[in-house]
Amino acid sequence: MSFDFVKKLDFDSEFFNLFKLSESAYGAISKENSGMGGNAGFIDIGDYLIMIDTTGDMDAAKDLRKAAIQFTQKEPNFIVLTHYHMDHLMGTSLFDISTQIMTSDRTLRNIQTVGRKRVEEFKKVDLIEMKESLKAEKDEEKRKDIENDLKFLNYVRSDDFFLREPNLTFKGGCVIHGAKSNVHMRVFKKAHTDGDVIVYIPEEKILFAGDLLFARSDPWIGSGDPEGWISVNNEIMTLDFKVVVPGHGDLSSKEEFSLENKYIKEILELVKKRIDMGEDPTQIKREDFSNELQSWKSPVLEMNINFLAELLKKP
Ligand SMILES: [Zn+2]
Repeated sequence: MSFDFVKKLDFDSEFFNLFKLSESAYGAISKENSGMGGNAGFIDIGDYLIMIDTTGDMDAAKDLRKAAIQFTQKEPNFIVLTHYHMDHLMGTSLFDISTQIMTSDRTLRNIQTVGRKRVEEFKKVDLIEMKESLKAEKDEEKRKDIENDLKFLNYVRSDDFFLREPNLTFKGGCVIHGAKSNVHMRVFKKAHTDGDVIVYIPEEKILFAGDLLFARSDPWIGSGDPEGWISVNNEIMTLDFKVVVPGHGDLSSKEEFSLENKYIKEILELVKKRIDMGEDPTQIKREDFSNELQSWKSPVLEMNINFLAELLKKP
């Protein structure tokens, strides 16, 4: 979707395209197969610069910081982490102690438990096996995915790596008051994860949704609560915004939230129905969804079905 008020900026990065969304807000939309992971952005509120997420790749985070300095002449004073998944927070250690890292109290808890455990698991992954599968893989896109995974795992194992954790947390929400605009953080009940944060500028009608929105692709529901997510999306859709930076995918509007809810409702129904009929839910195919969801392409569909089959299976 294109927005006539959004300006694509002249910034050269292999990881993202940079957009000026409003007076204060900039969105960094990840390029496909770049290894950046989640989208990110920054907001210049006059006296402070706020960064939203730091991506899943240190080099992408370096580009993001460079872009922020180039377009605002400021270093980030605050980083808001939208949730605990690694593809959104690997760049935090790039910023020194003068940058406050903030998130919800539940996201901090997740970083300190699930996040730390994941890092230890990443250190144990068999790289030789991955290198072998890279040699054997002929498909260019799949090769790029394996290369990105190897780069990530090598970085996690390097002496340089440490994960800077948030030092500032809030429960229901928080506002940063700036000379030019005010930035609102809000937390909801469990949805994509427990503790998801959105970043919202009411005066400019700009929303950073984190992974509460996967624009036009299968949202990963296995860390959260699918039914909770539908109601959180309904709540978000009552906000007044004209453009959304999703966690994954292109710049969006309310329509993408509606489509995501449609997907979550349908996948829940499809899995429940199969289980009720005594059939194997893992046999569900893309063609079983409504027409408008059939063009989505992501291996996450299979993961979601497996997760729900386990969650909803009869005792
Ligand atoms: Zn996520």
